[in-house]
Amino acid sequence: MPDIKFLKGVGPAKAVLFNGLDIYTISDLLHYYPRDYQDRRPHAPMSDFKKPENICVLAAVINTQIIPTRYLTVFKAFLQDDKKQIYEAVWFKQRSRHFDPFAVIKRDFKPGAKIWVIGRGEDKSSFSSRVINVEEYYPADAPDVKIHAGGLTPLYSLTQGLTNRFFRSSVAGAIKKYLDEEKEILPPALTQKRKLLSIKQALYAIHFPSSLAELETARRRMVYEEFLLMTTAWHIKQKQGRQIVKNHAYEIKKTLLSPFKNLLGFNFTAAQIKVINEIFSDLKKNKPMTRLLQGDVGSGKTVVAVCAMLLAVENGFQAAFMAPTEILAAQHFITIQKYIKDLGIKIELLTSKTPAKTKKKILENLADGKIDILIGTHALIEDNVKFKNLTFIVIDEQHRFGVKQRAKLRAKAKDIDMLSMTATPIPRTFALAFYGDLDVSTIDALPPARSPIKTMQAGESEAFKIVQSEINKGRQAYIVYPLIDESDKVELKAVTAEFEHLKKLLPQYNIAMIHGAMKSAQKQKVMEDFLSRKIDILAATPVIEVGIDVKNATVMIIQNAERFGLASLHQLRGRVGRGEFESCCVLISKQQSVLSAQRIKTICSTSDGFKIGEKDLEIRGPGEILGTRQSGELDFKAGDVVKDREVLKWAVEDRDFLLRGDPKLLKPENGLFKKRIIELYQKQWNLLDVG
Ligand code: ADP
Ligand code: MG
Repeated sequence: MPDIKFLKGVGPAKAVLFNGLDIYTISDLLHYYPRDYQDRRPHAPMSDFKKPENICVLAAVINTQIIPTRYLTVFKAFLQDDKKQIYEAVWFKQRSRHFDPFAVIKRDFKPGAKIWVIGRGEDKSSFSSRVINVEEYYPADAPDVKIHAGGLTPLYSLTQGLTNRFFRSSVAGAIKKYLDEEKEILPPALTQKRKLLSIKQALYAIHFPSSLAELETARRRMVYEEFLLMTTAWHIKQKQGRQIVKNHAYEIKKTLLSPFKNLLGFNFTAAQIKVINEIFSDLKKNKPMTRLLQGDVGSGKTVVAVCAMLLAVENGFQAAFMAPTEILAAQHFITIQKYIKDLGIKIELLTSKTPAKTKKKILENLADGKIDILIGTHALIEDNVKFKNLTFIVIDEQHRFGVKQRAKLRAKAKDIDMLSMTATPIPRTFALAFYGDLDVSTIDALPPARSPIKTMQAGESEAFKIVQSEINKGRQAYIVYPLIDESDKVELKAVTAEFEHLKKLLPQYNIAMIHGAMKSAQKQKVMEDFLSRKIDILAATPVIEVGIDVKNATVMIIQNAERFGLASLHQLRGRVGRGEFESCCVLISKQQSVLSAQRIKTICSTSDGFKIGEKDLEIRGPGEILGTRQSGELDFKAGDVVKDREVLKWAVEDRDFLLRGDPKLLKPENGLFKKRIIELYQKQWNLLDVG
């Protein structure tokens, strides 16, 4: 379709403004959907003046009046609608000695003329008339009045220099002249199956719907198309990944796996055995593995990952394990080291805090193949970290890493096998739409002898009573403060002050503090002291959110709980209830917004990670959960993967149906659909030949 500058009324100067909105062609304009609609139908509910929102009325001019004031001139028009309601339309304009600011308005507002008036309403109930501060008006007999008033009127996201009025006229012009050129890309079988509007009907109705129902049908059609294109593209990309044949192979020798199992001190749960088998059978294939392991907090994902790493090591390869925080990486290092201490393999820890000398040695040994397993933080993805024969990586708490970081670790070796882990499960529809069915393993049961965690809201004094009674029983406690950004000095000061206050309040106990801005050795010392019970109460920032494992800790107090997200609360709470003792989590929160109250209610009422994941998705949106927020991979023009989940399900079903009948999309009726996928995703996703 032609360049936008060729649309009537646009021209080169305005075209630049459209370009700023990513509108380059007339087709782009047709696919630039309204951000909202205003109900400008006669007697729409908002015309009752209850709220000073935008009002739209159709009324006839009775007379007009000009009232000069010191700086402004006020123009008033008295109008009456067909129900005999009187309105007072007002404009304020700068005075000018050179021209009449109201010339055009005067011309249009001749007594008797019928006019649509749109503006902010004021209900001056003491008068019989209703005041409208006019923003737009359209004479009822103007040729294009229908696109601006009298119906559901589209409002667009604009940029400086463009008005909704101009935008609407441009869209209407484009529809009139170019809509016929718009091609149907959806395979006819699918449009029929889902009873979807044709592209022309849908585009017309999404801009100028005749009813809310029609708008919904139109929107659904566009959402469906977007989702189908996206999920089909993902599928193709995934299939291409599976076509790569990897150069390394694993054999289950059990030279390390058997002793590991014997040293472990517990038996794997059935759920763990199931996922270990899934992972091993993946690894034995000749294609690189990309598997997501999901399992609730405390379900025992780490040992599963260790099994897989040991499989790599017993085959002579190296493995890497990346965790999102230093404390967590250090803790993994300690526990994994304990698990494997008699196996004769070499394991190291690398974080940004590793001293330069040690780091140098580690990097050398890594490149020489003297290190079998490297545990660490983001430090692992630095360019100077080079492995000799790395084949397997684990990304713990994968949602805490950005797409780029994950990709960088993957790029450390060719055909790498990857296991990513998360406790924030991805709802099934999503997994199907964006990951495909095969690549998710779930640990769906907790290890035995876990006691449920009671979660409640309480005041500070009640919370501290619980802490005292638990400590008197020999248990330990966490108190968590919301320090979201460890580099924020003001907040850190507040947390430190709280800590001092706490020490005064409970002088009989050993209290220590831990936060991310501390030196690693210091942090390590505190964690060790807590583990060996030298500390009764650990005052902490959310650095302890993930992974920390102290079985004797049975109570967690979360201060200012309203400031935490749902997933964080769930993760934090998972720090207690890790042993045989009954545990509880107390949320202290004074101010609550609607959303934070919703989060707190959810967290108190369920401990089901899947339910929390679903709820979290509703509240926070999908980008954060899939970890693709930065990449724009989930930006849709019309669709919203959360609100339109139903349509997403259709798209997944129909994708499979479509590809079953035509795996390479070679049939002529699927040609345009395929072409669009290539246009949209080939470059962005590095799709090879889509066929
Ligand atoms: P998460 O899935 O949250 O990462 P972890 O791997 O940290 O959980 O495991 C939590 C705790 O459960 C650890 O102390 C671990 O040793 C223990 N654990 C794991 N598997 C079992 C099991 N099968 N039986 C008993 N304890 C287990
Ligand atoms: Mg973990």
